[in-house]
Parts: sequence; structure tokens; C-alpha cells
Amino acid sequence: PTTIVDELGIALANLADNATGAFVPTLRLGVTGLSRAGKTIFITALVHNLLTMGRLPGFAAFAEGRFIGARLAEYPDATIPRFAYEQHLATLTGRPPEWPEGTRRISQLRLVLKFQSGKWLSGWRGPASLNLDIVDYPGEWLLDLPLLGLSYAEWSREALERAEGHGAEAAGFLEALGGVDPLAEASDLAAEHLALAFTDYLRQSRELGAMSTLPPGRFLMPGDLEGSPALTFAPLPPQQAARNGTLYAMLEHRYEAYKDRVVRPFFRDHFARLDRQVVLVDTLKALNAGPAAVADLETALTAVLACFRQGDVNPLLRPFSKRIDRILFVATKADHVHHTSHDRLEAILNRLVADAARRARFAGAESRSLAVAAIRATAEGTINEGGETLPALIGTPVAGEELDGITYDGKTEIALFPGDLPADPDSALKGEPPVMLNFLRFAPPSRLERNAAGDVVLPHIRFDRAIDYLIGDWLA
Ligand code: GDP
Repeated sequence: PTTIVDELGIALANLADNATGAFVPTLRLGVTGLSRAGKTIFITALVHNLLTMGRLPGFAAFAEGRFIGARLAEYPDATIPRFAYEQHLATLTGRPPEWPEGTRRISQLRLVLKFQSGKWLSGWRGPASLNLDIVDYPGEWLLDLPLLGLSYAEWSREALERAEGHGAEAAGFLEALGGVDPLAEASDLAAEHLALAFTDYLRQSRELGAMSTLPPGRFLMPGDLEGSPALTFAPLPPQQAARNGTLYAMLEHRYEAYKDRVVRPFFRDHFARLDRQVVLVDTLKALNAGPAAVADLETALTAVLACFRQGDVNPLLRPFSKRIDRILFVATKADHVHHTSHDRLEAILNRLVADAARRARFAGAESRSLAVAAIRATAEGTINEGGETLPALIGTPVAGEELDGITYDGKTEIALFPGDLPADPDSALKGEPPVMLNFLRFAPPSRLERNAAGDVVLPHIRFDRAIDYLIGDWLA
């Protein structure tokens, strides 16, 4: 009789053997969100949990014992950067543990999952395989879709109007703009100078406005185009019939090249091929920053969601139409509030995206909102304050974090009353009364449990529900 170890060995050997020639279906899962929303952590934790059979009771294939195992596989397209899973995991589980660097460009990773279908009579057919392709890309890039429908003159008009309405951040750019004559002879130097001032304005607007960001998406998230001439343009006051050889004609040409060589290929080659999408949203950060940041986040989400409108609704997407059938919205970093606030956080995100989705006339795909911590950095406890017992979070704030005049050194564990989220999502989004959270960045957990195989077990919040929603039906 085979022992359990033998069976495991056989199962693993089977995993390594994909050369049977059998057709293996592929599920392409996109992971996006604005910068620092939590994409890198989400993917690292997803891969680790699948590879090591993490603690995921809410993931049906695990709970029902039908999941046999997973392994990393070579990605079929060698021209696309690989998601640096091993490196990120090493940073997260190092001594001391640290958060890895976030997403700056597109990257991909393929996992092969082996499972036993739970369907009637399928036990008879034996284990099945699924390629899970994970595609990580900056949400900023989605903001470029509208550019495909705008000429240089139209885009310039919009961009300049907005800049004039934001004099504080745009002062440097407007001044640089005042110094150039669009009909003067084209010059690389003038183009560079203007593009730099424009990028600077976009960056400042994001810093002041907290969440959202404006197109062109690559100006703040250049990926591999950093320093490339493809990004050396800026809006100019629209001109009637600018001659060739003028600065205006030069920038117009570069704008068109950006659309053709950067924006369109991204939508065609990557975005349009996704089957599922998870959109990560740092909802807590916006709530904590107040109603202006929430409104701003909503604007950005509306623009992001416009990309998920079906091809027959959004003419810009028609050339690339493929149906994403499921979208999961995730309020990340849920370990920054007490568990009594998790349902509330979900309700708030749900309201936020429902409004944004309605405005974008987004229809067709099924969607859901979840509050998740892909890696839980805090534990829960209580503290006593003036005779009152308050729910608390226990964790180690990252060095340099400040709250109430205290600067943390990165070594001290503290108990913190995080505050509650309001039960009414509308009042939370309007900030009436203001949402007051004590918000600190915590270091990744340092005392990690290990499973029988010696792999670290990453603690999480509701991550199993997210995984079940994203891939569960493919393993059914
Ligand atoms: P990206 O820019 O979307 O790739 O964002 P990251 O995944 O790099 O996350 C940005 C930061 O958010 C990290 O450095 C962490 O500080 C924090 N973060 C992300 N996910 C979690 C989480 O599940 N729990 C906690 N406590 N912090 C998180």
C-alpha cells in the first residue's frame, strides 16, 4: 500500500509532468491598482499560499481537500519581465522583515495548479491541471485609455484647462509654457524642458491630491520607458494648421507615437487578454485623508473602471474586446482596523465602486468587494484608557512613522486603538462626521509559524475568500 508520503511524492511528480500532451486551460488573472495600493504584496502572498498550501479555509478547493499542489512554471512569453516572487518573499521574511518595493511596470508569473474536480463523475477522470497566469500592472496605465479617443489638440485643451485650475501645483509648468512659442522651430531641448515641468506638475498634484493621478499614465509610472523620448511631450495651446518643423508639430507627433506604440499595445497585448481582474484600492488611506481624497479616489476609480466597460459599450475598447467575466474589488490593508470594522470597510468600498461603476456605465461582468489583508501585520488585543476597555491592534510601526508626536524606531511593539469605521457608508464617504483613524504603517509580521514542510505560514485577513472568488470556479 502507498503511504501518504508516497502519494504526495507521486502527486508532486505528476505536477512536474506536463508533457503528457493534454490540453491545459489557462486562466489569466490581472492584478492592478494605483501605486502603493498593495499589488506586490497581494501577488507574493497569493503565490506563496498556493505553493505551500497556506491556511485558506474559505478557499473551497483547499477546504474540500481537492487541491493537490502548485508549482511555478516557465512563462511562455520570454519577453515579458517575470514577477520577482522569490525576491519579494525573501524581503518579507528576512530578518528583520521588510516590505518589498512595489510595482513599477508590467510583470507576469505562471503557476500550474493541480486539483481534483469536485464535479459528478470527474473523480473517474483523475486530477486536472490549470495554468494560472498572474499579470501585475500599474493602474495608472489604465488612465490612458481615453487618450486613444483624443487628438493632441483635444487632449491639450483638457490638460491645460485643468492645469490652469490648479495654479499651485501647476505654477512651474505654466511658467515654462509661457516661455515657449508653439509655432517656433522644434527643439529637443524645449520639448524636454516642457515635459519635465509637466511631469513635475503631475507628480505634485498626486502628492497634494493624495490618490488620483492624471494621464499620461507613464509619466508617473514609466516602467521600462524611463527617460525615453516617447515620454518627452506636454500639452500646448491648440494651433490651427501648425507647419511641420514647429515645436507644436513635434509634440503632436510624439503624443501620437505614445498612443500608437505605448498605449495601444498595452491594451491589445496585455489588458485585452485577461479573463479575470482584481482591482486593489487603498480605501483606508483615502478615508483617513478626508472627503477631498475620497472624491479624488473616486475620480481615479471611475477612470480605471471605464476600461472594464465592454467593447460594445466603449468604442475605444472595441478593437481589443475580450470579456472579463469577474472583477474583484479589494480594500487592502484591512489589518489596519479592528475586525469589527471589516464588514464596514467592505460596505464602504462597495459604495465607492458602485457609484464609480454606474458612472462608467460598467456592465456585463460580475463583481464583488472584499476587505482583505494579504499579509496581516497586526494582532488584536485590548487597551485600557480612562477605565474604558478599547479594542486595539498590536504591531511594530515601521521606523520613522509618527503619531501624536511620537516617532517610532521600527523596533518597538505597540498597542494602538485604531478607531472605528462608521456603519453608514455614505457618512464615511462624505466624511460627516469625519472618519478619524489612527493610522500607522506596521512592519511585516516577524514571528511567523511554519507548516509541517517547514514553509512559513503567512497570516492574512479574508484572503481565502478573495482567492476563492478569483479562481475557485475554475477548480470546481
Ligand atoms: P504596489 O505599489 O501596489 O505594488 O503596493 P505594495 O504591494 O508594494 O504595497 C505598498 C505598501 O502597502 C507596502 O509597502 C506595505 O507597507 C503596505 N501593504 C500592502 N499590503 C499590505 C497588507 O496586506 N497589510 C499591511 N499591513 N500592509 C500592506
